[in-house]
Amino acid sequence: MSEIHVIGDYERYAGKEGIRRIEAKARPLRDLHVMHMNSTYYGGGVSQILSSLTLLMNSLGIQTGWRVVHGPPDFFSVTKKFHNALQGAEINLSGRKKELYEHVIHENAVRNHLDHDLVFVHDPQPLPLITHYRKKSPWVWRCHVDLTAPNHEVWNYLLPFIERYDAVVLSSRDYRQNLRTPQVFFTPGIDPFSIVNRELSEAAIDERLAHYGIPTDLPLVVQVSRFDHWKDPEGVIRAFQKARKEEECTLVLVGNVATDDPEGAEVYRSLLAHKNERIIVLSVQDGALVNALQRRAAVVLQKSIREGFGLTVAEAMWKGAAVIGGNVGGIRYQIEDGVNGFLVSSVDEAAERIVRLLADPDLAERMGRAAREKVRECFLFTRTLEQYLDLIGAFEP
Ligand code: UDP
Repeated sequence: MSEIHVIGDYERYAGKEGIRRIEAKARPLRDLHVMHMNSTYYGGGVSQILSSLTLLMNSLGIQTGWRVVHGPPDFFSVTKKFHNALQGAEINLSGRKKELYEHVIHENAVRNHLDHDLVFVHDPQPLPLITHYRKKSPWVWRCHVDLTAPNHEVWNYLLPFIERYDAVVLSSRDYRQNLRTPQVFFTPGIDPFSIVNRELSEAAIDERLAHYGIPTDLPLVVQVSRFDHWKDPEGVIRAFQKARKEEECTLVLVGNVATDDPEGAEVYRSLLAHKNERIIVLSVQDGALVNALQRRAAVVLQKSIREGFGLTVAEAMWKGAAVIGGNVGGIRYQIEDGVNGFLVSSVDEAAERIVRLLADPDLAERMGRAAREKVRECFLFTRTLEQYLDLIGAFEP
């Protein structure tokens, strides 16, 4: 079991001055009661972020809790459709869907007493909660999805809920919407102490890979993602099949299925038809395996079609991997094409970059070094924490 880290531990990554600054910003906020609401304790980036954020905020003396929306499977099937629509998909926005969504959130409001100094609501699932309280304190909607081109029907339906909030946080300025509510922009970051990111010895990496029977005789091409069409696992397989005609390698697709994502199991099953000796598809919840794969991979892919911000991209970059990312959403601000990774817009481009990186390990190493520096500068968790503190501080007199 890993120990629970406190803010001082991060000094080695964020520097003494950075930690002092965070402590100073947190001091006037001590003893505030803050609540985060989202829709899953595990699987997906938001649960990773909240896991670190709630521990660190408490270590700074801010009384911070984390609650999860409860609901039946058909509620999560509706909210996944809303999520998809916010990322641009079509939807049949029936009265039944709206009724179910609003009813389940009403039930959650009855059983959750949110009498806090500040409430953060993450993503669309718990969004209507705000309508059920006599609001005495600021409420913030933190939307993590890629809002490049939201479906207007769903956006317009959600708008009256969104505009009751005191602020909306989005991961990129590109997601700015026409809103009465003030919009704030900052990205999430990665926690260097989490199971997914902490240092691993070569022996520990070997052990994890062997545990799942992953062959290491050929270079590994890896994508780590929830099983979700937005992550384009089908495109990854096609790119790999094409690249393999020129460079020998093994593909590992590893993913999990979040409790708020009912489409995951089906996407996983649809990929099994491609499985063979050189295409490994694993559905497991094992952060240490993710860590080992990102460290051992010759090439990491994140070939998303939409991506609010790719935590998996930052995680792999932090480990010095050369990452090939989809040229979309937040990934475009994480990877600088040709400098610390590659941005691609098609299967053919992805295949070509895989071949290039496998054929030129020096290039992969150079990009990996630049990638780690980019994450150190821009995407470590301490920076995210500081931005949350700034936001909370802005509400406190
Ligand atoms: N993750 C994991 N196991 C898996 C797949 C993903 O632990 O099999 C983690 C991954 O390391 C990352 C998060 O889940 O921390 C996914 O966040 P990201 O922003 O990449 O995508 P999201 O799932 O939020 O769309």
